[in-house]
Amino acid sequence: MLKIQDYRPQPFIDFTQPENVQAYEAALKKVRAELLGKHYPMVIDGERVDTEEKLTSLNPCDTSEVVGTTARATIQDAERALQGAWKAFETWKTWEMDARARILLKAAAILKRRHLEACALMSIEVGKNYAEADVEVAEAIDFLEYYARSAMKYSGFGSSETTWFEGEENGLMSLPLGVGVSISPWNFPCAIFLGMLAAPIVVGNCVIAKPAEDAGLIAGFIADIMYEAGLPAGVLQFLPGVGKDVGEYLTTHARTRFITFTGSRAVGLHINEVAARVQPGQKWIKKVVLELGGKDGMIVDETADLDVAITAAVQGAFGFNGQKCSAMSRLIVVDAVYDDVVNGFVERAGKLKMGTGEENANVTAVVNGMSFDKIKGYLEIAPQEGKVLLGGEAPGECNGKQGYYVQATIVGDVKRDARLAQEEIFGPVISVIRAKDWADALAIANSTEYGLTGGVCSRDRDRLEQARREFEVGNLYFNRKITGAIVGVQPFGGYNMSGTDSKAGGPDYLANFMQLKTVTERW
Ligand code: NAP
Ligand code: MG
Repeated sequence: MLKIQDYRPQPFIDFTQPENVQAYEAALKKVRAELLGKHYPMVIDGERVDTEEKLTSLNPCDTSEVVGTTARATIQDAERALQGAWKAFETWKTWEMDARARILLKAAAILKRRHLEACALMSIEVGKNYAEADVEVAEAIDFLEYYARSAMKYSGFGSSETTWFEGEENGLMSLPLGVGVSISPWNFPCAIFLGMLAAPIVVGNCVIAKPAEDAGLIAGFIADIMYEAGLPAGVLQFLPGVGKDVGEYLTTHARTRFITFTGSRAVGLHINEVAARVQPGQKWIKKVVLELGGKDGMIVDETADLDVAITAAVQGAFGFNGQKCSAMSRLIVVDAVYDDVVNGFVERAGKLKMGTGEENANVTAVVNGMSFDKIKGYLEIAPQEGKVLLGGEAPGECNGKQGYYVQATIVGDVKRDARLAQEEIFGPVISVIRAKDWADALAIANSTEYGLTGGVCSRDRDRLEQARREFEVGNLYFNRKITGAIVGVQPFGGYNMSGTDSKAGGPDYLANFMQLKTVTERW
């Protein structure tokens, strides 16, 4: 067993302290000097392998700048990675649980030392401001610390409870599944990328990790920390590549035992479908863990502390430009306080400053051209679907820098079934929906196929209790913002089309990557 203190989440950095801002600026300089323009090859069976074709990662806040490049894996590379991982599995599965957990703890220690570097790299690569980058790196460290400890409960024979039966020994063993593929999104390219590979690995699986194209550098940086911490060759195959080719190949493959995916609903459902089709020679039913999109709503009723509600709305809506699966994209306000809430929301959001992640702006550029165009499409229909109360433009430049800049936008009086109220926009575009009363507000909140996060700002106990039972989401928050789940504190995962409710950072998350065996010995 590990001899360590109980899990405690990482504290966040206080950027009101000038010395913390200076330290961040120093890290930005260091990263610009040492990591900018860097190339990350693949890592297969412990060897760095390169490809002819490369993937380029751009700075979304200044698209004239190339942040760096990664290899672009081919189908042959994916095949090699898969076969190599199965070889590595033969040994890795026999390691003691605590020995595997120590590698995660060591990685956490390294990442703690390089915390600000990881932050700075994300500011440049995906446009996170200081606080957004800090909470993400803290989350990444938390995943390592938390999963290392969680693994202990699955260690050894009989670790799960069974009932005593006279004349026999009975017990449940937890065994790893084998080799899986982990496919991650660009919006939490450090924490989700790391959490989704560390969890299966700590309980004895081997993983092929395919990062998102837009965030290959931070993924390479994180993978290197896992190798530095001592992961044996082949346990983690780092495979930067294109989802539509190597992602598709691996999720379809007969020898893929499990898939862990975080990303959009469309890609997730497609993976679910291809993974369900049995391939020639396939011996198992693939296990698929999906964490998908959201259309997250927060209700404000007439009993709410409106100041609390408005703060929660601004934070939940515009943190990282609304590019979070948990972001508040629908603000549902009961008629009695609609004007007060909306006026306050527009006024506060109007103060947000646009700029780069490196400048620590509140609203930075969205991640890429496709995202920018998609959001622009929603801005075009916004005047038909409601009243544009703030923003509404996608200037595509800020302070002389060309980038994917979209204004913080609030659209009022959007109908509950409008496209703006139903489709995931994944940008700083918020729909405000007017509800007749509390019952109507709850009905509106549930009138989506998604079910990731949700919130209620109210001082009415009965309503909060009703929401506890009936608000159909995996993560529900009262009287605070609906983003910012902390590992171990708020296990995270959605209902309905938002995913398979696997609850990352929760007490049973590792069970997703294990199979149980009941063994009986008659004395
Ligand atoms: P995405 O477009 O679905 O991409 C996610 C990953 O899937 C990327 O690595 C992508 O590779 C890969 N991919 C694309 N097509 C594939 C295919 N046919 N087979 C296998 N893999 C494929 O999502 P995203 O734009 O990166 O991320 C934003 C989405 O993620 C939003 O919908 C957001 O709500 C969701 N999200 C959910 C959670 C959660 O916990 N529920 C957390 C974060 C984000 P390429 O980069 O090469 O295209
Ligand atoms: Mg980029």
